[in-house]
Amino acid sequence: MAIATTNPATGETVQEFDSLTEQELEDRIQRSWDAFQSYRDTTFEQRSGWMRAAADILDAEVDHLAELATLEMGKTFAAAKAEVGKCALGCRWYADHAADHLADHPWDPADAPENARVFTRYQPLGPVLAIMPWNFPYWQVFRFLCPALMAGNTGLLKHASNVPQVALAIEDVLVRAGFPEGVFQTLLIGSSMIEAMVDDDRVRGVTLTGSEPAGREVGARAGKNVKTSVLELGGSDAFIVMPSADLDATADAAVASRTLNNGQSCINAKRIIVHEQVADEFQRLLVEKMEALKVGDPMAEDTDLGPMSGPQGLEELDKQVQDSVAAGAKLLTGGKPMEGRGNYYPPSVLAEIPKDAPAYYEELFGPVALFFRAKDLDEAIAIANDSSFGLGGSAWTQDADEAERLVNEVETGMMNINKITASTPEVPFGGAKNSGYGRELASFGTQTFTNAKTVWIQ
Ligand code: NDP
Repeated sequence: MAIATTNPATGETVQEFDSLTEQELEDRIQRSWDAFQSYRDTTFEQRSGWMRAAADILDAEVDHLAELATLEMGKTFAAAKAEVGKCALGCRWYADHAADHLADHPWDPADAPENARVFTRYQPLGPVLAIMPWNFPYWQVFRFLCPALMAGNTGLLKHASNVPQVALAIEDVLVRAGFPEGVFQTLLIGSSMIEAMVDDDRVRGVTLTGSEPAGREVGARAGKNVKTSVLELGGSDAFIVMPSADLDATADAAVASRTLNNGQSCINAKRIIVHEQVADEFQRLLVEKMEALKVGDPMAEDTDLGPMSGPQGLEELDKQVQDSVAAGAKLLTGGKPMEGRGNYYPPSVLAEIPKDAPAYYEELFGPVALFFRAKDLDEAIAIANDSSFGLGGSAWTQDADEAERLVNEVETGMMNINKITASTPEVPFGGAKNSGYGRELASFGTQTFTNAKTVWIQ
């Protein structure tokens, strides 16, 4: 895939970028390794100071940074500004808390003599490679870099090929914030150069957020090299509605969650599973509210849903919908790309989806809600679990016993009751099953790329 900025609202390629040569890549890896030798000895106070300075730059330059994201991947300008703001929040939160996450953790073994000191010390690993997707082009990267850099690692970013300007802007923000040279570098490279990087002894860990096939390849390569890896992959999150839910408010939440980020988030509510007692009414509300969304220019203030990021994603979504309809699924609204320029797909709802339709088991990465009916809680949970994915999920009920069963029985890395799935620095984030492994954010994020060294002194 060419490294280029192509405006999803118009289809116009605005700027193309050259990939690094092999020699340039070698120089960057060496620079990361060299930077690590001294960066690992910086104090938490120094790292926190640079993090806070980065947050201040993000806040001061939010409009410009957000415009780049909207230009390159089509999210609404309002959503892009909120994303940049969240990155500033992440920088400040880790500046405040990382030292606590990484403080020596004491142990008290029974056979230790009185004078013994036994503890875990968290030490940085070295250069960590981050392979990131375009859908939250800032947040996905900051979610990795805030904890990883606070822990004393250096970072090498291979961003998605369609967001090079955002990728370069992130490095620029960190350099201007004062992080020493080489601590965080953006590499404009294609994915064909990743294998050799994972094999490289100087690269001590790898994290990938993206599709399942990419995750399988990178995870296998990391395993072969016995390196720490984190995989945050796709999802087809269930959104379960029980009769005690406030239907109107819950339908608003379903639409918001399904269409967040123009329908291209790993944690969108993709499968709406509704108890049959309230299914007719909920389906009516869902279709009505999806149809009420305003689709258009992502820079316009009143736009709810902008274009999809690229023509390839649009074609793939269209094919999944057409093939599902051919297999017997019923289209309740939308269902074909909009005419005119740009990668626009309307808010759509599919129902009565048979198991052999692509929409049943595959992830639909665009604004198409999948509607399922369940005769009771058991069936709702069974449908939710009938997926190879297990990222997040939400359920809507006022019944505490139902909530408890949902929390225990839905096979996901995250489960929310009466709340849509979202990520925030204070709470761990990650999936189960084919949605990946490892956890980002909270203290998990800070400790992941460290050597948790057991120390016993007596
Ligand atoms: P891809 O997996 O195609 O791309 C993600 C990143 O991986 C890009 O930087 C890409 O580079 C790189 N990449 C692709 N193939 C390889 C490979 N074989 N080896 C090494 N690197 C590779 O994902 P999409 O762009 O299609 O993003 C959407 C997918 O990501 C969805 O499935 C979605 O659910 C998932 N996702 C998961 C999230 C989570 O947190 N769990 C969050 C966001 C998205 P290049 O662009 O150069 O191809």
